[in-house]
Amino acid sequence: CHSPAEKRWFMMRVTPLQVAGKGYFVISHQNITERKLAEEEVSNLARIDGLTNIPNRRAFDEFLHSEWQRCFRLKKPISLALLDLDHFKLLNDTYGHQSGDECLVRVGALLKQLCNRPGDICARYGGEEFALIWGDTSLGQAKQLASKLLNEIANLNIANSHSSVESYLTASIGLATMVPDNSSSESELISQADTMLYKAKGSGRNRVVC
Ligand code: GH3
Ligand code: MG
Ligand code: MG
Repeated sequence: CHSPAEKRWFMMRVTPLQVAGKGYFVISHQNITERKLAEEEVSNLARIDGLTNIPNRRAFDEFLHSEWQRCFRLKKPISLALLDLDHFKLLNDTYGHQSGDECLVRVGALLKQLCNRPGDICARYGGEEFALIWGDTSLGQAKQLASKLLNEIANLNIANSHSSVESYLTASIGLATMVPDNSSSESELISQADTMLYKAKGSGRNRVVC
């Protein structure tokens, strides 16, 4: 019993056949749904970060590419936030690597909650670095979202007692917004956000720089 929305795949085979000097075709359909669903699952798993269960760098790159194209067509701004946890090495050193892992899981879950629209994605960009894309979102709106994010991370109240910033886990965010056009590229957006993140780290951490 299949619901109308359920996906099904069939493979059609057409084989020519001669019977008593006349040409015929035998057409057969084979249901290959199970195989396709298994392939889809493998493909989905390859795009999910194993620790945090949120999209990984590969999924992020693909999403950024398609969202960049979409915003290009619509002439809308696209915003990118690069978030790096502050003094995370100290947290690992103080509470152990496993506690560090648990923090990454909690931060990942939080980011996921804040990416609700179809043009949004959060991803684990690398070790203790995360990236968020907000499609069709102006710099002003993105700033608000990023500040909210820092507040929410502080509200997790994860101890990082040796941090020079606060006694709990904080993060720094580099933010960039562009309206895609023929002279700009998505790699430029990433490098701008990266420069801003570097500035956020250099100017005291626990802040958004755009
Ligand atoms: P900064 O504020 O300058 O970003 O300092 P930081 O200590 O966060 O940065 P640094 O690059 O010195 O250290 C990053 C740390 O993140 C070190 C590394 O062990 C830790 N890390 C990266 N990936 C993982 C992971 O999957 N699990 C855990 N527990 N730690 C990780
Ligand atoms: Mg880092
Ligand atoms: Mg860090």
